[in-house]
Amino acid sequence: MPRFFLLLLAACCLAASLPSPILALSLDDREARLDLDCLREAYPGLVEDLEPGDEGALVLRLSDGTRILYDDGARDRTQAQMLEAPSMREAMALPYRPGPADPAAPLPASGDSPGRRRVQAFFQAAYGKDKREVGAALTAIPFAGTSLSFNARHGAAAALQRAGARLARILEEKPELRREVFPAMAGMYWRPVAGTDRLSLHAFGVAVDLAPRRHVYWRWNGNKAEAARQIAAFPPEIVAAFEDNGFIWGGKWAKYDLMHFEYRPELLCKARRLRNGVR
Ligand SMILES: [Zn+2]
Repeated sequence: MPRFFLLLLAACCLAASLPSPILALSLDDREARLDLDCLREAYPGLVEDLEPGDEGALVLRLSDGTRILYDDGARDRTQAQMLEAPSMREAMALPYRPGPADPAAPLPASGDSPGRRRVQAFFQAAYGKDKREVGAALTAIPFAGTSLSFNARHGAAAALQRAGARLARILEEKPELRREVFPAMAGMYWRPVAGTDRLSLHAFGVAVDLAPRRHVYWRWNGNKAEAARQIAAFPPEIVAAFEDNGFIWGGKWAKYDLMHFEYRPELLCKARRLRNGVR
């Protein structure tokens, strides 16, 4: 065989034996390991591991056999595409910032809505694949002197109960804050996010709306100056009662939804570890 062909053959074999770019990345992919650690911590018994998928992708393997795309290597998806159908890496990529809003710029910049990208198949595996399964997982819990219905799986209802107990103590000291909290609406609302086909986390019974008539939502009130004022004025102790128990607040979204809190312990885990420099 001519020398040229031998060289060509050697080059081909070498290329074939090299891992694909994504898998090579995964061997030292700190963010993927951090995401995996936080998913395991937040949903114990559900999330098993990251493993190679088709064409160099990384997939998340769940204990029920579900495989969810973690990263297919695409880096050219638009914000709208990532909102519509994110990979798990994209869903966890925007850092959630617990604590008080920045007084100089309370309204997050356009596109900065950490937690609004959601992988529906993951929440179906976590909380119930359809209305009947989610309904069967609901339980009634005490909440600051009232009772709310919430999904009992993966510690969600227990977390809301803890947040409610802390709110009860806050409201005892500051009864004027009751109007910021009540009426509180939880339970299962099998509905899409307004204006989309995607299921809201209210469909899974893991979101709660506080005093909906009082707090602004971007779709119903597009006055950004008013939204910024309300975000800055929102009682930080109420937000902390939820964040410390694994909930994110819609007041931290550019597409603000100030009444809305949803249980996303994986994002609070990631925020905590990044803040502590643990990666
Ligand atoms: Zn809501």
